Amino acid sequence: MNRRTVKCFKGYAQSGVRFNIEVLYTLPDYYHTKLFTCLRCGALYCADQDDIDCSGRPFDAVIADLECQECQSPLSATLAPYPESFRMADETMGHFTPSPLIPDDQDSFSVDFWNLYT
Ligand SMILES: [Zn+2]
Repeated sequence: MNRRTVKCFKGYAQSGVRFNIEVLYTLPDYYHTKLFTCLRCGALYCADQDDIDCSGRPFDAVIADLECQECQSPLSATLAPYPESFRMADETMGHFTPSPLIPDDQDSFSVDFWNLYT
């Protein structure tokens, strides 16, 4: 699996008594890249919507054969859409829904993720 650089924005999730838990998210118009996480170890992954729709390799079939690059879990059991779900430092599960407001482009930055389709 290869790494891929994705343009992201930073969000701040809240869970129970915890605030300002930093998460990343993408916008639908930036390369249309979706993010995923391994709920067992927190490793982050990405997949192009174009690959999901047009590569001829259905998403479920792609992840059926993959292990997490960082904890070797079968991704079919541990992968979840991110940051809708994510693993927090205390090992509980956090959730975050990005604001529908489009943030300033100058607030974006680049992060490398494992690309599920490579
Ligand atoms: Zn993992």
